[in-house]
Amino acid sequence: MTYNTEGIILKYRDIGEHERIYTILTREHGKIEGWAQGVRKSQSKLVAHLQPLYFCDFMFARGKRFDRVAQVKVLNRFPELWADLEKLSKAVYVAALVDLVLRPGTREGTVFNLLQTTLQVISSEPSPGLQPSSPEGVEDGPSERRPRGGQGEGILTLFSLKLLKESGFSPELHYCVLCKKEVQGLSLSFDAIRGGVLCTDCFIKASPEALQISSLTIETLESILTAPIARLEMPEAVRRELSIIADAMIAAHFGEEPKARNFMVSLADELPQMARV
Ligand SMILES: [Zn+2]
Repeated sequence: MTYNTEGIILKYRDIGEHERIYTILTREHGKIEGWAQGVRKSQSKLVAHLQPLYFCDFMFARGKRFDRVAQVKVLNRFPELWADLEKLSKAVYVAALVDLVLRPGTREGTVFNLLQTTLQVISSEPSPGLQPSSPEGVEDGPSERRPRGGQGEGILTLFSLKLLKESGFSPELHYCVLCKKEVQGLSLSFDAIRGGVLCTDCFIKASPEALQISSLTIETLESILTAPIARLEMPEAVRRELSIIADAMIAAHFGEEPKARNFMVSLADELPQMARV
């Protein structure tokens, strides 16, 4: 029995002499593992189509332990990602985070859409070499003065927060997570483990290690969680606080950072091969 679905390849691992197991986020079936028969043999035609971050149309044959990739057609290779190491490392991080956060079989079509859109947003970011530089002494406004690695990482923060929400970790932004009292004020406390804001009393009594964040950050977070993902200009202080919230929630719920570095190494091995495809 076979079935068709679109999916994005998150990673793979080798098994046996010629086989590979692919972890794929599919549109209809959530995160699945599929194996490809003889894919590492030199004459295999499948291997060029089965690369991390590729968006493909798959036909799977049902199997006992893993479903087998029977046919694959690449719909988007995201060539812009492979041409720019910074974009590639962001895309790798995003894929690794999906792999970390999603359990196999969870049917989250919204996460698939979020991943696909985020890869497109990263693809279409201006490449660092192409950004116009302003002449010395001329100020082009706040966006030009932001440090590198700041605003450029914004999409990763937005993605992390939206992924947490879509996987059931939506932060509570209005009521104290301990006593349920409505929380107001310009500076608020955020408890990453309990997943939301704290009132002043509960902060003092129960959670002195909570993060201090501004009400503007909470407002921004609320609008991020309700709007589709897109590049978003925001003050650097807000971006930094959102990044701290996202990292703290991921650490609190999943106990680790995605193994993006290891994944990066496996991708780097593929780069020479990619150039020939
Ligand atoms: Zn409270």
